[in-house]
Amino acid sequence: MAGIFVFSEDPALARQLLTPGLELKAALDQPLVALTPSRDEAQTLAGLGADRVVVLEGPGTPEALAPAVAALVAQAGVVLVGGTLRGKHLAAHVAAALNAGLTTDAKTIRAEGGRLETTRILYGGLAVCEESLALPAVATIPQRTFPPPAPTGASAPVEAAAVTADPRVEVLSTTPVAGEGVDIGAAPRLVAVGRGFGAKADLDLAVDLAGALKAELACTRGIAEDEHWLPVERYIGISGQTVKPELYVAAGLSGQVQHMVGCRESKVIVAINKDERAPIFEAADYGIVGDLYTVLPLLTAALKA
Ligand SMILES: Cc1cc2nc3c(=O)[nH]c(=O)nc-3n(C[C@H](O)[C@H](O)[C@H](O)COP(=O)(O)OP(=O)(O)OC[C@H]3O[C@@H](n4cnc5c(N)ncnc54)[C@H](O)[C@@H]3O)c2cc1C
Repeated sequence: MAGIFVFSEDPALARQLLTPGLELKAALDQPLVALTPSRDEAQTLAGLGADRVVVLEGPGTPEALAPAVAALVAQAGVVLVGGTLRGKHLAAHVAAALNAGLTTDAKTIRAEGGRLETTRILYGGLAVCEESLALPAVATIPQRTFPPPAPTGASAPVEAAAVTADPRVEVLSTTPVAGEGVDIGAAPRLVAVGRGFGAKADLDLAVDLAGALKAELACTRGIAEDEHWLPVERYIGISGQTVKPELYVAAGLSGQVQHMVGCRESKVIVAINKDERAPIFEAADYGIVGDLYTVLPLLTAALKA
């Protein structure tokens, strides 16, 4: 059946996919179908503009899901898949099964002239790659690229489709990734720290500022992966998290492109750096040239007052 199909095993991302899905539905005049492995989530998706919701019942491995999804979307116009690790794995299988083009990590997506036009960031943010795919086409979309649509007040029909296990793949055990459970991506305000901090104990200055701002703490890769002063789920950038907070306070970090890729869509960026030529000032809305050891306590005190 022709249509715009969206799938993510991540509930938040599944909702976000409906926003570009609705735009493509209007442009291509095809129904919008949400595929989900969760019966609970199906009801939510049914109220966000999907014309139909299909619950995929059975094993959730990409190997098992791919044939089921490919069969459902056999003549799809477009398949949008949430760009998680599992989602990318699934998207590759589905694209192969449909003999369709695949673009990953699409930042913008639109239909024009019967084709899918996408952009994605390349070389750590140094270039934007534009791709034009014939239909059917498959695209993966990262977290928080689009906001979820508003509830419509209506409820689309929900049906079920069976997923059959792939006999070649057996899940013997699963182990949750150990972490502190903070969702940096959901925080409306972040205070990000970099190597301008000379010692782990000095991060207390940033913790105090974050407390005054009701913000979460984030960091550069070096702080998480080299110094191990903060957990890896708190580092921002091309190989870390992508965030879009209302406020991003960058203290003692240089603003190299690999970091900025993860935060440049923040609404307001405030930079504190003692080097006036630091690249972070090119991205910042507000900049303070100064020593963070002086500036942070002053900011915290002013906010508390
Ligand atoms: C393939 C690849 C992937 C990468 N992925 C990521 C990624 O995902 N995320 C990431 O963050 N990085 C990533 N990096 C690393 C990235 O290139 C930078 O090296 C890193 O972001 C710099 O971290 P920093 O800003 O903490 O340190 P630095 O670049 O050393 O900057 C420290 C800054 O602090 C300032 N400073 C020093 N003392 C003070 C003070 N007392 N007061 C105020 N300012 C002070 C300095 O002027 C300087 O600008 C990646 C690199 C590669 C090659």
